[in-house]
Amino acid sequence: MVEGDEIQPLIEAVHEEFVPYLGEGKVADYIPELAKADPRNLGIAVATVDGRVYSTGDDAEPFTIQSISKVFALTLALGKVGDDLWRRVGREPSGTPFDSIIQLEHEHGIPRNPFINAGALVVSDILLSGYQPRETIGQILEFVRFIANDETIAIDPVVARSETEHGYRNRALANFMLGFGNIEHAVDLVLGVYFHQCAIAMDCRQLAKAGLFLATGGRVTHRDTGVVSTLRARRINALMLTCGQYDGSGDFAFRVGLPSKSGVSGGLLAIVPGIASVAVWSPALNKQGNSLVGTLVLERLAERAGWSIF
Ligand code: GLU
Repeated sequence: MVEGDEIQPLIEAVHEEFVPYLGEGKVADYIPELAKADPRNLGIAVATVDGRVYSTGDDAEPFTIQSISKVFALTLALGKVGDDLWRRVGREPSGTPFDSIIQLEHEHGIPRNPFINAGALVVSDILLSGYQPRETIGQILEFVRFIANDETIAIDPVVARSETEHGYRNRALANFMLGFGNIEHAVDLVLGVYFHQCAIAMDCRQLAKAGLFLATGGRVTHRDTGVVSTLRARRINALMLTCGQYDGSGDFAFRVGLPSKSGVSGGLLAIVPGIASVAVWSPALNKQGNSLVGTLVLERLAERAGWSIF
């Protein structure tokens, strides 16, 4: 297994191998601000449990983390309401696209899992309980800054506005679940929280550091303190493995073999339990809406480093 100083030359070699593939796939265009992304970007960062960070390519270029934020929002919501959360959100893969509505009708407004948009909207609704949207957004941002040990992480207001103006399907999902009684706050407030968490901007190094608590059994290395229990960290990893890539989750587990979460801006966060947290960013997406080159990079990296949970 590759470790320590062997990681830097490995990620540089994998970066070089996949640069020729940049340009394949398609940048998300349903939110105008995301359509402006440059498909030629590729960044890779690996944060190891001993606190070191290795990175290459466009590793210092910030991008909005989009659905990767669902991992952090879920962690925060579980801290707030514990396992009661699972009364309102399921834990099964959906096998449908990220913004699908069809299963909600059969399942009485209970989303399949917290990583599809419907599930994440319920998580936002849970986080809003007892707080104003501004406070809730502040709590999510503070949490992300804490786990990444980086106070400079911020929300991109232009992307948040663009999503607010064009998030028609998310509005439909929230209203549909409100009709089943599984959204408790006004839809605009829930969407406000959700769109702002999606618009948290980070570079690969910051994202890899933010995910590290899931590789350490719930501990943040910079403070030697736990953010979640080992059991909860394991369970979040289990959900990332089974549901983190929408209807591409099975194929990703087959090819890469690591818990992960994708975002429509082309970011990927993958966890190597006990070893490292890996962030890859390349904006052009595959058919399932996950980073095309990012997936190839993770597949090669996991293979060459000998990283797998299996
Ligand atoms: N903000 C995006 C949306 O809800 C997130 C989707 C994603 O990253 O997959 O449309």
